[in-house]
Amino acid sequence: MSGGWRCSACGCTTYHYSSERRRLVCDSCGHEIISAEDEHRQLHYLQTVDKAKDNLRVGNWDTAKNLIYPLLNDHTCVNALYLILLASVTKGYSDYLLGDANRARREEAASLWDKLSRLNGVNSAMIEYSSRRAAVIASTWNKAKNRILLAVFLVILGIVIASAFYVALPTIIVLGFAILLVKKAIDLEAGAVFTEMRRMKNNTNGNPFE
Ligand SMILES: [Zn+2]
Repeated sequence: MSGGWRCSACGCTTYHYSSERRRLVCDSCGHEIISAEDEHRQLHYLQTVDKAKDNLRVGNWDTAKNLIYPLLNDHTCVNALYLILLASVTKGYSDYLLGDANRARREEAASLWDKLSRLNGVNSAMIEYSSRRAAVIASTWNKAKNRILLAVFLVILGIVIASAFYVALPTIIVLGFAILLVKKAIDLEAGAVFTEMRRMKNNTNGNPFE
């Protein structure tokens, strides 16, 4: 970095942020920059980003997010900020944001992903996350589908038993299992997962949330 600044110790005109010292220092001699207002602001920015990254590292997702959002006012085109936000929304790329409960966070992730793709900032971690997410959705839907198909089969079996043998108990047991399977399919949020899968099939822009 530079911008008209000159080191008072050695005359060098560029400086950088030292994470270790949490200060802006001269590139050449390491002399600390004492705050002109701009430098102070920049220091605040870099410290905040550093702090947000620390919070990401220990899983304080919301804290990291709340630190970064205010910085966007003055730093609208910085990929690193959107990457921190996306990492916090997806809990370090480990939460696939499925189901109705995650609708708001999905929309937030969609918008962050969109910004990063406008800034050419889509990285390999994001792409890997996107394909893991697609695989999780496909396998969850398969599981749910198998449960539903088995439930349908059991209902038919129950009807056959009832009409062929006129016995109630086996039919009730079979139908009971069918209900249990449907419940287990619902537990997987089968409906939401199916909707998500169809949406992803029609998706062409690479944003897994759009
Ligand atoms: Zn210097």
